[in-house]
Amino acid sequence: MARVIAVTNQKGGVGKTTTCVNLAASLAATRRRVLLVDMDPQGNATMGSGVDKNSLERSGYDVLTKQATAAEVIIHAEASGFDLLPANGDLTAAEVALMNEIGREYRLRLAINSVRENYDYILIDCPPSLSLLTVNALSAADTVLIPMQCEYYALEGLAALMNTVEQIQETVNQNLQVEGILRTMYDPRNSLTLDVSGQLSEYFGDKVYKAVIPRNVRLAEAPSYGMPALKYDRLSKGAIAYLALAGEMVRRHGSAKTSPPVAV
Ligand code: ADP
Ligand code: MG
Repeated sequence: MARVIAVTNQKGGVGKTTTCVNLAASLAATRRRVLLVDMDPQGNATMGSGVDKNSLERSGYDVLTKQATAAEVIIHAEASGFDLLPANGDLTAAEVALMNEIGREYRLRLAINSVRENYDYILIDCPPSLSLLTVNALSAADTVLIPMQCEYYALEGLAALMNTVEQIQETVNQNLQVEGILRTMYDPRNSLTLDVSGQLSEYFGDKVYKAVIPRNVRLAEAPSYGMPALKYDRLSKGAIAYLALAGEMVRRHGSAKTSPPVAV
């Protein structure tokens, strides 16, 4: 039964989408069955997985508005090695369409539950705002994975996010937990980075992943080729960092499988 992880942070540009695509590819490379759900109308996770958001027959819009089941919309992102529930700008219309519906916060949860048995991990890429789409993601999720840059205002943003998690626990999903905190675009030569990083560990202890994601140009380039860094340049620092994160996650869950990793 899949573990459902929402990758979220109300701040934009912190590496949510990059983390979704590259973590999904890394988990798939260790033979986990992975579904990536794109819940951002920008469709960056869709494009970054190698699927053209402008030529989708069906998308998350159809799932949220109950015009199709999740199984009917999910496609295999061939270039990336995992399954994808794709999205594009139509998601914004879904948000509007749901406004007056009863149970509007639970549409994604219902859809995900219908395919949950088919996967080991389901990752949800969230938009950078506390919209109905994000609430749908958080109500569907078991846990939240929070990517963050170790910069001056990061801890403030994190406090706001913890507040959101609490509100979600009090309303639509009392079981929501923190999966982990991931330091992205990490630069150990920067003393502020080390400072913020130290404070993070103080507050969140072992919820902070030991794996850190360095700033790496390959991670920024790969999406324009529609593939994760692991396929674009498998020896790049970025690809290796996300493999390390996947390894750490899998070990945390104590669900190591015996089959060898697939060649990439
Ligand atoms: P979000 O989804 O949180 O808005 P993105 O994953 O889209 O953030 O990342 C924002 C920008 O930073 C993108 O252009 C992406 O390619 C780039 N980026 C993300 N992580 C890294 C990294 N570790 N090294 C270099 N560039 C990165
Ligand atoms: Mg994004």
